[in-house]
Amino acid sequence: MATTRLFSLTLAIGSIWLSGCATTHPTPATAAPPPARITVLYDAFGKDAAMTKDWGYAALVEINGKRILFDTGDNAAVLAENVKAKGVDLGKLDFVVLSHRHSDHVSGLSYVLSVNPHVKIYAPKEPFGMFGSDLPSTFYRKDDSLPADMRYYNGAPPETMKFGTVFPRADIQLVDKTTEVTPGITLIALISDAPGTRELKELSLAIDTPNGVVLVVGCSHPGIEAIVAEAVKINPHIHFLAGGLHLVTAQDPVIAKVANVLHDTYKVDFIAPGHCTGEPTFAALQKAFGDRYLYAGLGNTLSIDANPHAASSEGGARVLDDGDSRSYRTLVAQSGDLY
Ligand SMILES: [Zn+2]
Ligand SMILES: [Zn+2]
Repeated sequence: MATTRLFSLTLAIGSIWLSGCATTHPTPATAAPPPARITVLYDAFGKDAAMTKDWGYAALVEINGKRILFDTGDNAAVLAENVKAKGVDLGKLDFVVLSHRHSDHVSGLSYVLSVNPHVKIYAPKEPFGMFGSDLPSTFYRKDDSLPADMRYYNGAPPETMKFGTVFPRADIQLVDKTTEVTPGITLIALISDAPGTRELKELSLAIDTPNGVVLVVGCSHPGIEAIVAEAVKINPHIHFLAGGLHLVTAQDPVIAKVANVLHDTYKVDFIAPGHCTGEPTFAALQKAFGDRYLYAGLGNTLSIDANPHAASSEGGARVLDDGDSRSYRTLVAQSGDLY
């Protein structure tokens, strides 16, 4: 009798536990999202002997379930070698972002198109830009008194005048203004006002994540402060900043101000600078950010979770060593990317 009661009690408790369990987990567990990470495929410093260092920038950004190639480096053959060395498949991309028209960001596109001819490419819209453009034909003044053969299009221009691109077969979508291209992923469009690049339009990639904005920049010609000021409109918390800050010739007071603004004003959590950031700026940012400065040399993969860190084995070091610095200086000197 006692045994039967105990047995019934056990069954009852068991069924309560089972039903409790069932109500807590009504649906099967969903698969974990793929890890968010960035892999540097083109830069002038790095430790991976299997890859070729060169002046320029390209990075594969895997985040929010998307694979995005941000810029394409300076040379298609070098990009091809580096991509193969890293085992990256550029045939599978959601889209490419070309940050700006400078050759050290665009020239590798021919390789990308050779393996992925139909990939969608976002590029800045500039008047008569290399990515193509158009203008309403109302833009030019007309003179009806002229004979037709002295007039543009015999006096009957198309409503929209289209201008060519150096990549005529590519699926290029021109971006004029800051645009959310897919939910949570925004291309920030700003125009440089700096001598030498005045009126150059540049796109930066801002991904809104539960940890804050992940911001990837090409050369920051419009100024990194201006770009971050746009990014905080999406989410005031900037979690991760990677790419070129274009301080390669900047003097110390300018560098100190930028480091201060990023660290103290915008409270950027983690920084992974590369490309045209410049050696003294690498040093200043490393000092300002300490352990939250992530070495992002060529070939490095950085995870971009709540606590970003080097995901690849060669990424342990947080600084440029002597060999790294020497080759970076040589490539800076050879580049025309000094203003
Ligand atoms: Zn540039
Ligand atoms: Zn550049």
